[in-house]
This record gives sequence, structure tokens and C-alpha cells, in this order.
Amino acid sequence: MLRLEFILHMPESRSMPNVSVLIPLALPGPYDYAVPPHMAVVPGSIVRVPLGPRHVYGVVWGGAEGATPEHKIKAIVEACQVPPLAGELRRFVDWVANYVMAPPGAVLRQVMRVPDAFAPPKPMTVFEAADAPARMTAARQRVFDALAERGAMAAPELARAAGVSASVVKTLAQAGHLAAHDLPGDIHFPAPAAAHKRVALSDEQKAVADKLAAAVARQGFATHLLDGVTGAGKTEVYFEAIAAVLEGGKKALILLPEISLTGQFLQRFEARFGCPPALWHSGLGAAERRRTWREIAENRVSVLVGARSALFLPWRDLGLIIVDEEHDGGFKQEDGVVYNARDMAVVRARLADAPVILSTATPSLESYVNARDGRYEAHRLTARHGAARLPQIELVDMRAAPPPQGAWLVPQMVAQVGAAIKRDEQALLFLNRRGYAPLTLCRACGHRYACPDCDAWMVEHRFRKQLQCHHCGHVEPVPKNCHSCGEAEKLAACGPGVERITEEIIGHFPEARTIVLSSDMGGVVAQREAIARIEAGEADIIVGTQIIAKGHDFPKLSFVGVVDADLGLGNGDLRAAERTYQLLSQVAGRSGRRAESRGFAMLQSHMPEHPVLQALASGDRDGFFEREIAAREMAEMPPFGRLAALIVSATNPDEGLAFVRQMAAKIPPHGEIRVLGPAPAPIARIRNRYRYRFLLKAPRQAPLQGYIAQWLEPFKTRGSVRLSVDIDPYNFL
Ligand code: ADP
Ligand code: ZN
Repeated sequence: MLRLEFILHMPESRSMPNVSVLIPLALPGPYDYAVPPHMAVVPGSIVRVPLGPRHVYGVVWGGAEGATPEHKIKAIVEACQVPPLAGELRRFVDWVANYVMAPPGAVLRQVMRVPDAFAPPKPMTVFEAADAPARMTAARQRVFDALAERGAMAAPELARAAGVSASVVKTLAQAGHLAAHDLPGDIHFPAPAAAHKRVALSDEQKAVADKLAAAVARQGFATHLLDGVTGAGKTEVYFEAIAAVLEGGKKALILLPEISLTGQFLQRFEARFGCPPALWHSGLGAAERRRTWREIAENRVSVLVGARSALFLPWRDLGLIIVDEEHDGGFKQEDGVVYNARDMAVVRARLADAPVILSTATPSLESYVNARDGRYEAHRLTARHGAARLPQIELVDMRAAPPPQGAWLVPQMVAQVGAAIKRDEQALLFLNRRGYAPLTLCRACGHRYACPDCDAWMVEHRFRKQLQCHHCGHVEPVPKNCHSCGEAEKLAACGPGVERITEEIIGHFPEARTIVLSSDMGGVVAQREAIARIEAGEADIIVGTQIIAKGHDFPKLSFVGVVDADLGLGNGDLRAAERTYQLLSQVAGRSGRRAESRGFAMLQSHMPEHPVLQALASGDRDGFFEREIAAREMAEMPPFGRLAALIVSATNPDEGLAFVRQMAAKIPPHGEIRVLGPAPAPIARIRNRYRYRFLLKAPRQAPLQGYIAQWLEPFKTRGSVRLSVDIDPYNFL
């Protein structure tokens, strides 16, 4: 059918029809190629084409553009044996490219990351457990554990999953402890079963679950905001929507932030549906990526849980997208193609004509307003599951009663931690700052340690004995003598990070089992293990950054202490209040998720009168949102107006400055769109690039992208100058 439609669009006079092929590179658009007579392609076919001296992959995008003279047109070299990309995926690529102002090829690159998958799977040998060896080493045990958990695997994948060397697997196989099977191709993912184990839902949960399931059964695009307090059972509720997808024979995509840390989520999924979902995140090995991409292209994956890039998988039959923790800033991709996966998920669902569910306890202001104004369908869950109640939140005024000299925790906070341990429960101390101290200076001369390549202080990581820049990753050993005056032993750590809080709390409770967790510590596997230990109750005190704040369900956690509730409020960006509210209510919401004891959170602050903190303490979320919305509306800020940032950077500051001056001279006049700047970006130098910023502000319906395109049209970046466009910026650094 598809092919017929395509042939009808072909110019009739040619013997060899031409087509346009989009190549996954940052080129201005597709190029024309000829289809050799023996070859059959349709729009969406993945092909290999000559580009300069190379052969590259590309996708047949449509009929020929006709811009290339006939004698210069080269022929497609190969049509790959892989199902063509669906029309809705191609439209998605074009839509995203248009919206974020990236070359379509750069967006297509998000789809084409796994070229190994463009060829049919090769026959392979997989291994499964046979007789366990008499001599069972720890490494061998991990091999058997991995097989028990994930089933038969090829040798390299098995070694990786078990964290052992290839020789361990090889020896076990040769000795007959592993049985080999030859497979003609990929192992299919197991099929989740809608009715495997239904959970008895509360009346409130059931009412929402029924509505979502009905929306899925109906299909058709609509955005649903699943707005329920922490611990309300949002996951259980949207599982019912997934069950409806399975019943309808369609496919479901769940986007999660911090996907690599969510072992618990996978277990819950398996308990409900009888098998784990397929996964997509940066931690997957090459073989897993290839298999997953290919199986999706073949339309054989029913449910996949993924990071934001899973939006660009070659879905054919999407019936539902779920964005869990939709408010999370991690959905914004900041480098390469700059996009917000939450917003693009809504677009993707619209193109699939399927519903999308945004789930959260603290909606983004954008989603809140969309629900309030009826653009999204709002569903509320107001109570925690069972007898569990929301935590009580208390503010501690640090001006009135500061911590003792050299300490960061007030005595009441320490006492609460002690009380939780005594009750055989867990306490969490939260500080959104990695390392030991954010600033290191010399007490003799006052020298402050700064990154050589960024306008940023070096952060001490005492456990690793390093100073590190959190913007570029540059590290140095902690110096013995001051770099500036040479005095020894005079370095002073200023301010706390999680490591320092850990040191302090261990000083109070040396016997307690304390786990410290931040994104830079120990790698994903170690972090996942730490989280599993916390869930299993094998820790008394947890000290952590935001990676501990999101989504986890720690049954024994009853006290949360926030070391510095003011931390996010100071930087004055558009979303400072909103993000602080979201983060702190998330972290407070980790406590008391079981009925046994009510959760309690204590927030240390120097400005407890701040509206964000007052709203947290009183639990008046919607009141806070309404005031924040009123302020945004008055200032015509998002979601009532739109922003875009243009960042110019250059290793040579004069080059950069000259470029932004030229740009400033050519700002097109416009009645509604305002251009602020150029100004040095808030962090004026990162990785030795000097940064300048224009900020554009426009009413919601103004043609912002068209305006920017018109402005930038005459400019070509030269020398070290780079220009990036950020539509709907989230970070203002
Ligand atoms: P949320 O995502 O809203 O924070 P969860 O879905 O994680 O909430 O649910 C919180 C806890 O309550 C989980 O341990 C979950 O298994 C449990 N729970 C929620 N609803 C039910 C239910 N209807 N029956 C049994 N357990 C439930
Ligand atoms: Zn740096």
C-alpha cells in the first residue's frame, strides 16, 4: 500500500526514480538520490548512500526535492533489511527539528543511534544455567544469579550482566555448567500480561484508573495529568492504563527520570504483569541496545521503560505514553539537540493519535495551568494509599538558633535522627550539593581555588581526595601547600556538601549504618545497590542529593531533614520557587509512606517566611501555585509567554564579543518579541569558552522560531564561535 502511494508521487518521465534521503548529520536538509532499478524503497526505508568519499546510512524521506542537477545525483547503494520508519516517526523528527530549530538530520540522529540494528540479527549462541559447579566462587555465583534474573544470554552480555570477565563464562561453559543453545536471531522480549495480578484499588484510585483505561481503550490523542500526592499509588493507577494498552494490542512507553536507578519500579512492574518491561537507557550494553531497537522496529515490544531518548525509538503502534515525575528537570536534554522530553512526549502522542499521561505529585506550572484551563484532563489522588498520611513539615529558623560552631545541623535535627534510629526506622538527611565543601580557600592568603577553565569554584571531594569542577569535571588532587602563597596545612573548607554532613552525623551516631549517595559516587551499579539496601532496611541514616529524592519508596523511612532549604531559592531564575517547592515536597514525601508511623520533615532555613517554605509547611500547594501563576501571568513569563535563549560561545573572547555585537546590530524589529542582551551568561566561562546570551521573550502565540530564523539567517559562525538555540529554556546558566 505504502509503496503504491509512493510510486504514484514519482515523476513519470524518469527510468530511475529519485528520492530524497535524510542523513543523520547536521546538514541543512535531505539530498536527492537515485533508486537503482532492482531496488525497492518506500518512504521511511533505511538505506546506505554515498556522501562524499563515504557510504552513510540515511532514511528515504519522500519524493525528490529536485534541487540537485540530474547528472550529479548518485544512486542508493543498499536498502537495509529493516522495516521502514513509520510515517508518524518521520513527522515527529520534522516537527521536533522545526520546533527546537535543529537540522532535521541532527534530530534523525537520535533515531539512528544503533546502526547494528539495521541488518537482520545474526544467529547467535546463548547460554543458560545447567548443573551448578561444586566449587562456587562469588564470580560464578553472580553468573548464575544473572541467568536466574534475566534468562538465557549471549556470552558477552552475560559477562557484563554478572560483572565478571569473559573467561569466567567461558570456563563454566566448557565444563558443562552452562548449556549452549543456538538461536536463529534475537530473543524476543516476554509479553506482559494485562491480567497477571490485578491489585485491589481504593475507590479513589479505581475511579481514576477506570477513566485512564477508558481513554486508552478509546484511543485518540488527549493529555491526562495524573496529579496525586506522594504515595497515592499513581504507579498502580497508571499500570491499569498499561493493562488497557495490552488488551488493545498496542504498545506503551513509560518515560522515567533516573531510569538506571529504578530497580524497584521493575520489580513492581513484574509483580503486576508477570515479566519485566523492556528497557532503554544509556547504561545498556551494545547487544541489548541493538536487540531492543530491532525488536521495536519489528513491532514486538509491548511495554518499554526508558529515558527521554526512548521517544525516538522506531515505534510503530504506540497506544500510550506515560511521563512519570513529569515536573522533573532531567527531561530537558541540554546538549546536542536541546529538547524537553516531557513536551515532546505530548507531541509524539498527538502524532500517534494516542493518549499521554503526565504523572506527578508536584506538577510543573505549565502542566498545572494546562489542566486548570482544560487543555489537559486532570485526575487527582488526594490521599496516600491505605492508612499512611502525608508527612508533617516543620521549619527551623536558623537565624534564631544556629547550629553549634563548625556544625551544620541544629540539635533538634540531630535529635530527630537519633529518635528515628531508636524506633528502628530510617532518617534521611538531604542536601543538594555533591562533595565535601563547595569552596576551598587558604587561611593564610585568602586564595580561593577556582577551575582553570570555568568561572566556578573547585569543590572538594574529600572521600576521593580531589578538588573538582562541577561544570567541566576538571579534577586536581587536594593540594598540601597553597598554590598561591605556599603555606602548608592552611586550606579551609567553606560550606557543607553531603560528604561533610555525613562526617557530622557519623560523629553523632558512630554505631549507625550510614549510607551516602550522590550522582558522582560509585557508578550506577553501586548506586542501585545502595538504594536496594535502603529499601531492604539495611541502613539507618541516609545522606543524599536529589538522586535520593525522586520516586523511591523506602518503607522504613520516617524522618527527612533538609540541611539547606534555601539552596535553590537564591539563584533568582524563573523557576527557582517552583523547582524548590517540587524538590522539597518530593524529598519530604519520601517519609512515612507506610501506615505505621506518620512521616516528619524538618527544613533548616534562614528565611522561613519565604512563600515557598510557608507553602510547604502549611501543605497549601495550590495556594502557592496560584500565587506563582499570578506572578508569571503579570510578567508574561512562561507558561503565559514564551522564552528562548541564544547562547554564543567562543574560546577567544574577542571573537565571541564581535559576533554578538554583529548579531545585536541586526535584531529584527518586532511589535511583540523582545530581545534582552547580549549579556555575559550567568556562568560567563565554561570549558574555557566565553559565553554570551540573548534572551527572547514573546507572547504565547508569537512566531518565535520564525523570528529567530529570520534573525540568524545572515550569520555564519566562524573561528571558535558557536551558537546554540534553546527554545523554552529550563536552565539559565
Ligand atoms: P506514588 O507513585 O503516587 O508515590 P506508589 O504507586 O509508589 O505511589 O504507591 C506507594 C506505595 O503504596 C507503594 O508501595 C504501592 O505498592 C502501595 N500501594 C499503592 N496503592 C496500592 C493498592 N491499591 N494496593 C496495595 N498497595 C498499594
Ligand atoms: Zn571547570
